[in-house]
Amino acid sequence: MKIHEYQAKQILYKYGVRIPKGEVAETPSKAREIAERIGPNVVLKAQVHAGGRGKGGGIKLVSSAQEAEKIAQEMIGMTLFTHQTGPEGKLVKRILVEEALDITRELYVGIVVDRAKEAPVVMASSEGGVEIEKVAAETPELIFKEYVNPAAGFLGFQARNLAFKLGLGGETFKQAVKFILSLYKAFEATDASLAEINPLLITKKGNVLALDAKMNFDDNALPRHPEIKEMRDLDEEDPLEVEASKYNLNYIKLDGNVGCMVNGAGLAMATMDIIMHSGSMPANFLDVGGGVSEEAVKNAFEILVSDQDVKAALINIFGGIVRCDLVANGIVKAAKEIGLKVPMVVRLEGTNVDLGKKILKESGLAFYPAANMKEAAEKVVPLAKQQERS
Ligand code: GDP
Ligand code: MN
Repeated sequence: MKIHEYQAKQILYKYGVRIPKGEVAETPSKAREIAERIGPNVVLKAQVHAGGRGKGGGIKLVSSAQEAEKIAQEMIGMTLFTHQTGPEGKLVKRILVEEALDITRELYVGIVVDRAKEAPVVMASSEGGVEIEKVAAETPELIFKEYVNPAAGFLGFQARNLAFKLGLGGETFKQAVKFILSLYKAFEATDASLAEINPLLITKKGNVLALDAKMNFDDNALPRHPEIKEMRDLDEEDPLEVEASKYNLNYIKLDGNVGCMVNGAGLAMATMDIIMHSGSMPANFLDVGGGVSEEAVKNAFEILVSDQDVKAALINIFGGIVRCDLVANGIVKAAKEIGLKVPMVVRLEGTNVDLGKKILKESGLAFYPAANMKEAAEKVVPLAKQQERS
């Protein structure tokens, strides 16, 4: 789960990470009021789940409370486009109003879980600011790393190593060490999957603060953190993914044009592989699960055809716990109600398969039956390509 910058800063503050003074505003008058208190120089920051706001016009420096109100008027309600928002952009509903700080250096500190090393890794770079991805791609030697032994935890000398490599000294060095240790404490205690500070700011006086903050959390750990779960902003998530989560369907939107409905994650993976092998890309990962009901199949079908990127669909069901006739009934009911909309290849196998096939056939709907996965993939890929052209 992702959260907004202002929420990440609230969490980090509790763990001793130093952040600028600021508050969130949903109206221009509130922005003015905050600026009167902490200004006159403030920075207005659009709160959306996407980075690159600086370049996209989502970060504005102003020098009076009056100007804060005027610019807030323009920002709240605007659609922000950055390289991370996608072509549809993101609606700005609130802005963070923060004291404007003078910047001498912009550094980078981030923590993620390195799956290959099976350990969290704390990364730091003196090349912070807005283009850390470029640094990682072109000059990876400028990103310093400390792996964390999960049993021993992140140790003081590791934080000092990083601060030293960043070229810091004196009071700034001490503050940076404390900052990195506190950031790790927050990361660990909240079951975060990512905690990133970019830029980590060094002020003219040599103070160390988080100018930006991003945190993601492991969804499976959220039951342990009700206060973080509360921070979820459904408006920032893919509407179809939100819809699917209501019905306990595992749905992830992907970039291709072949919609998939399958039961079981393993079968979903195999289905995606065979679609790619046959020359297309899956438009989604939709796993209806093991003990699925007719109702859930119907909801899954609706989600599948609501995605404008789906040009053809492959329904691939292995009836182990679930019966093929139940799945067939769910699909037929949904198709009769909302229409087929795209060509659908259906491959059923397992319990009550003959009954399932009979239900599909007698529905009078134009499904494309397939006897096995290979045949199903070879049928659906040209259908998707054909729809893409027409
Ligand atoms: P992002 O572009 O979405 O990552 O947003 P950031 O919060 O990282 O801000 C982008 C850039 O805006 C920073 O790298 C800074 O250069 C600038 N910026 C943000 N806040 C301030 C501030 O308080 N003072 C000054 N002078 N610049 C700021
Ligand atoms: Mn940033």
